[in-house]
Amino acid sequence: MSNTKDNKYIYDFNEGNKDMKNLLGGKGANLAEMTNLGLKIPPGFTLTTEACLIYYSNADELMEELKPSVIKHLKTLEINTGKKFGDERNPLLVSVRSGGPISMPGMMDTVLNLGLNDISVLGFAEQTDNPRFSYDSYRRFIQMFGDVVMGIGDEKFERILDKYKRNIGRNAQDTDLEVIDLQKIIADYKTLYEKEIGSLFPQDPLNQLFLSIEAVFKSWNNKRAITYRKINKIPDYGTAVNIQSMVFGNKGWNSGTGVAFSRDPSTGENIQFGEYLTNAQGEDVVAGIRTPKKLETMKEEFPEVYKELLETMDKLERHYKDMQDIEFTIDEGELKILQTRNGKRTPSAAVKIAVDMVKEGLITKEEAIMRIDPKKISKLLFKSIDENSIIHVLAHGINASPGAVSGKAVFDSDRAEKLANDGKKNIILVRPQTKPEDIHGLYASSGVLTQFGGKTSHAAVVARGMGKPAVVGAQDVEIDEEKQEFRVNEMVIKEGQWITIDGTTGRIIEGKVNLVEPEIKGEFLELLDIADSIKTMGVRANADTPEDAKKAIEFGAQGIGLTRTEHMFMAKERLPVMQKMIMSRTKEERQDALNKILPMQKGDFLEIFKIMEGKPVTIRLLDPPLHEFLPELSTVLLENQELKMTNELSKSLLKNNPLDEEIAKKSKVISLIRSLSEENPMMGLRGCRLGIVWPEINEMQVKAIFQAACELKRKGIDVIPEIMIPLVGMLSELQYVKAQLMQVALETIKEYDVELDYTFGTMIEIPRAALTADEIAIEAEFFSFGTNDLTQMTYGFSRDDAEGKFIPVYLNKEILDNNPFEILDQDGVGKLMKMAIKLGKRTRPDLKTGICGEHGGEPSAVKFAHSIGLDYVSCSPFRIPVAKIAAAQAVIEQRSS
Ligand code: ADP
Ligand code: MG
Ligand code: MG
Repeated sequence: MSNTKDNKYIYDFNEGNKDMKNLLGGKGANLAEMTNLGLKIPPGFTLTTEACLIYYSNADELMEELKPSVIKHLKTLEINTGKKFGDERNPLLVSVRSGGPISMPGMMDTVLNLGLNDISVLGFAEQTDNPRFSYDSYRRFIQMFGDVVMGIGDEKFERILDKYKRNIGRNAQDTDLEVIDLQKIIADYKTLYEKEIGSLFPQDPLNQLFLSIEAVFKSWNNKRAITYRKINKIPDYGTAVNIQSMVFGNKGWNSGTGVAFSRDPSTGENIQFGEYLTNAQGEDVVAGIRTPKKLETMKEEFPEVYKELLETMDKLERHYKDMQDIEFTIDEGELKILQTRNGKRTPSAAVKIAVDMVKEGLITKEEAIMRIDPKKISKLLFKSIDENSIIHVLAHGINASPGAVSGKAVFDSDRAEKLANDGKKNIILVRPQTKPEDIHGLYASSGVLTQFGGKTSHAAVVARGMGKPAVVGAQDVEIDEEKQEFRVNEMVIKEGQWITIDGTTGRIIEGKVNLVEPEIKGEFLELLDIADSIKTMGVRANADTPEDAKKAIEFGAQGIGLTRTEHMFMAKERLPVMQKMIMSRTKEERQDALNKILPMQKGDFLEIFKIMEGKPVTIRLLDPPLHEFLPELSTVLLENQELKMTNELSKSLLKNNPLDEEIAKKSKVISLIRSLSEENPMMGLRGCRLGIVWPEINEMQVKAIFQAACELKRKGIDVIPEIMIPLVGMLSELQYVKAQLMQVALETIKEYDVELDYTFGTMIEIPRAALTADEIAIEAEFFSFGTNDLTQMTYGFSRDDAEGKFIPVYLNKEILDNNPFEILDQDGVGKLMKMAIKLGKRTRPDLKTGICGEHGGEPSAVKFAHSIGLDYVSCSPFRIPVAKIAAAQAVIEQRSS
C-alpha cells in the first residue's frame, strides 16, 4: 500500500476536500473539492503545510523524505495526462503554486511551465506543432523561475522583453513576438540568469521542481510574509505547495486565460462578471499586459466555453453557498478551472449578496448575519469619495469624524454662520482649533478642518456628535487667520475656495470631488430587519438634539441611551445666558438666569420626546466642569488689557475713565474663571458633584424634563423619561441628589395632574461605584456604564494625554494590544462591569443595565455587552446598524458555543 509515510505530506487532488484548508491551504483544499465535484481541474497534488513547518526544523531530512513521494505522485500525474515529466518530445509541464490556509500576499508567486529545458522545448514545439507556443512557454518559465525561485528581479527580464517588443514597433505587444524573437529573448534571459546566479539555468526538471518547492517553503518565513502575518494576526500555519499539470492559454487565438466572479463584486448584483485575454497565460489579465475583454465578448467568441463557464460558476456558487472568484484557462477551446475562492467584495456588495442568498434559499438568516463584518458596515453610512475620480490630496490629518464632504473654506465661525444665514451651503470651517464659542460656526458648516487637536478635541467631539465629517490635527495646514487663508506646501487656499475633507481617512483634498451617497435602504434595511429578529439586546442611540433624535429613529434606534444636556447650553443664543448663570453672585441672580434657560431646555425635551414616540429616553444631567462654558482665560486677559490701555489713553487726553465699569466686569470674569479653573478638571467639580454644590442647575433641568413630559402626557403622547445622574461614586451622593430631584419631579407631576412612568438611575463610571454597586442600586433603578470615564479611571489614564503621548508608544512596544478607549478592555474595565451588574442585581433584580460610552458601537464591546447580560447598548446614530449586526452575531455565536 502507498499509505505509509507518503500520505502524510502529500495529498492527491482527489484525496482532499474544502474543509482541509489548514493542511492543504485554501488553494489546495478547493482544488481538491472541485476535483471531487467532477469539474475540469488539471490534475495535481498538494504538499501539506505540515511539511512546510517540518522543513523549518530539518530541511535536509524532510527534502530527502519528500523526494521519492513527489516522484511517485508525478508518476500518477504522468499516467493521468499521458505525458512524461522531463520527456524530450512530450514533456509533462507543471505549475508550482504556494497557498496557505489564509490567502496572504507576500508569499511566493507561482511558477508556470516547469519542466521545460533546451532540449524539450524543441520536442514540445514539434509535438504541438506550435513552435511559437513552445518558445513562449519556455521564455515565461525562465522568467518566473529566475524571478520567483532565484530572486532575480522581474524588471530585469521585463527590460529584455521590452527591448524586443520595441524592435517590432512602438506599440508592439507580447503576442507580436515571433519564434525568432522568442529564441533571442530566451538566449538573453539565460545570459542574465548566468550573470546573476553564477551558474547555468537548470536543465534537469526534477532539480527545477525541488528548487521551486524549497523556495515556496522558504517564502513562508520571508520578511514580507512575517510582517503581514503579524499585522493581520495570522498564526504560523506554514504554506502548502500545489503541483499541478499545466493547461495552456497561450497556444494561440483559440486559447486564453481569465478571472470571473459569480456575482458583481462591487455592487453584489447577481450578474456574473469577468475578464479574459486570448493567447495569454496565468496572471496576464491581472498584470494588465493588454486590455482584457469582458465576459460578454466571450459569448460571441467562445459560445460553448461561455455557457460552460456560467454553469460552472453557478454550480460552484451553489456548492460553496457564497460568491465565487475563479481563475480559468481556455486551452484550445476547452475550459479548465484553476482556482475558486470566496470572492472579495465591497461592503455594499456583501450586504446585497447575503440578503439575496437568504431569499434564494441558499443560506439561512443566521448565516447571512455571520457573513457580514460589522466594522465594514459603518463604511456604508457615510458619504465617501468616489474612488474612480481623480483627486489631488493636499495633506493628511487625523480622521476624527467619518464621512467626506466638499465645501468652501471659511476661516471664522461668525462668518460661517452669516454665510449660512444668507443661504450658502457647503461650508467647511477651517480653524486652528475650535472652542465652545465656535459652536454656531460648526452648526453652520458641513464639515470642519483643524490644524491642531486630536480625536477628542472640541472640533472632533462636536463634529462626531453632529455627524459631520472632521479632519483635525492637520499639522501641515498652516492657517493664517489674518489673511483668511491656509497654506499647504506651496499651495494657498483662500476663503471661498473649494476643498474636500475625508473624515474617514483623514485626507484633505483640493477642490470639489465626486461623492457617493450612503444608503440605508433595500437589502441593507432588510439585513437590519434580520438582525432585529435575531438579537436580544436593545440598541439605542446617543442623541443630544432633536436632529440627532430624528436620525436615531431613521437608523432604527429603540430608544435614546444618552442625551447629554450640556450640548443644549452650547447653542449661540444660550451660551451667554449660561455664562451669566455661572457668573451670578447671588442665588437670585442665578435663579433668574436659570429661568431663562428652562424654556429652552424644555423646548428641546418636548421635541425629543415627541420624536421618540414613547420609546425610553435617558437624559443625563449636567456633567462637565463649568469652566468649559466660559471663555478662554488668555482671551479675556488680553481683552481686559486692551480696555485698560484705551481707558488710560482717554484718561490722559480727555480726563475721564469711560471704561471703568467694563473693566470691573471683565476683572470679575477673570477672577471667576480663575476660581473655577482646576488642576485636574476631569476629576474635579463635575457630574453629580455640581448638583450638590449648585443644586439649582439640576433642579431646573429636572423641571424642564418633567414639564415637557407632563405636557405631552396630557396630550395623550407617551413618554418615558429616565433621569441619569452622572459620576456617582457613593450611595450618599446619589441619595442626596435624587431626594432633591424627586421632590421637583413629584411637584411637577402633581401640577400637571398626570400619570407618568419615569426612573432615576446613574452612570457607572467611577470604579468605586462598580465596587459598591449593591449599595448604589438601592437608589438607582438603572445603571448605564460610561465606559469612557470608567476606562480613564480604571487605568488612571487621562484620555487626551494618554492618546496624545503614550498610548501610541504602548501599542508600538506591545505593552497594550489595543487602545482601550477604542476597544473595550474586557479583562479590567469589563471585570468591573460584570461585578457591578452582579452586585446591583443582588439588590435590585430588575435593575436595567446598558452602555452609553463610545464603545457602545464597537463590535467587540457589543458582543461583550451581550455576554454579560446588558439590556442595551447605546451609540451614535450612525453606529446603530453596526451594533445591531454585532448584537445579532453575539446571539448566534453564543448558540453555537
Ligand atoms: P495566485 O495565488 O497569485 O493567484 P496562482 O497559483 O493562482 O497564484 O497562479 C497564478 C496564475 O497562474 C493564475 O492565473 C493561475 O490560474 C495560473 N495557473 C496556475 N497553475 C496553472 C496551471 N497548472 N495551468 C495553467 N495556469 C495555471
Ligand atoms: Mg490565483
Ligand atoms: Mg462620563
